[in-house]
Amino acid sequence: MKIGILSRGPKLYSTKRLVEAAKKRGHEAEVVDYLKCYVNITSHKPSVHYKDRILNEFDAVVPRIGASRTFYGTAILRQFEMMGVYALNESVAISRSRDKLRSLQLLSKKGIGLPVTGFAHSTKHTDDLIKLVGGAPLVVKLLEGTQGKGVVLAETHQAAESVIGAFMELDAHVLAQEFIEEAGGADIRCFVINDKVVASMIRQGKEGEFRSNLHRGGSAKVMKISPEERSTAVRSAKAMGLNLAGVDLLRSKHGPLVMEVNSSPGLEGIEVATGIDVADKIIQFMEKDAKPWNTKTVGRG
Ligand code: ADP
Repeated sequence: MKIGILSRGPKLYSTKRLVEAAKKRGHEAEVVDYLKCYVNITSHKPSVHYKDRILNEFDAVVPRIGASRTFYGTAILRQFEMMGVYALNESVAISRSRDKLRSLQLLSKKGIGLPVTGFAHSTKHTDDLIKLVGGAPLVVKLLEGTQGKGVVLAETHQAAESVIGAFMELDAHVLAQEFIEEAGGADIRCFVINDKVVASMIRQGKEGEFRSNLHRGGSAKVMKISPEERSTAVRSAKAMGLNLAGVDLLRSKHGPLVMEVNSSPGLEGIEVATGIDVADKIIQFMEKDAKPWNTKTVGRG
């Protein structure tokens, strides 16, 4: 296969590992900076242009689109899909996963366990919103945040009111969420490929921190997960339409609750923590699945 890795960082761990794994299995791989791609959408033959050439040789592309570049990145990916090129994760699924609220709505539709979550536009409803999620302490999240930025634990009703008020004042979209205290500042990252969890780890926030993000100084170690956690992770990826996903779960008194489904999960944390060659497993899956036009949502918004 000729595989295009759509990534802005050829030196990033995940990008390098994917190229390495592809070559090791006898494929060709090229890193393509999707921001440097441009497209011709007026012609009958959709094409992607890159560095003075037309990219028409790929059998498959692996999108590694940065959160802040979702709009342009998914547009380029959609163009590849319209050319019949197989995408490991499709543009529609990536767009869904990048919107926290939309993701939670899709997951709830499938009956997947979630922390009680509320969402409002106007500060008039803040009091009710806080009550809706069970009162303080509660977590307030910026819809557009990543890596734990814009995730705040409000310990009192008053603190919650001021944080929500301040965010809304800035015209930001926020959601209020039940605080899962018993998770103890840890979450479980399940790395899903198609219908399997191929690796899992527990991430623990540093002392005094309820957010377990590795970017915030959290640490990770391998963790065996229960069958219920396994099936929750796989169902979540399916609900979003993702072949590859990093599903983050909180361990609550009532079983696993899904916090987030990530469509570009990093490989470094999981490979280092578990010793599993996840990149190889991704390429192996693509060998079976990557057929031309094997795209569920081609051309859809
Ligand atoms: P981001 O997408 O910015 O990483 P998350 O929603 O994943 O934001 O939250 C960051 C971290 O905060 C999570 O990994 C988890 O450890 C913690 N956290 C988030 N929501 C809750 C919650 N409702 N209850 C307990 N801990 C939470």
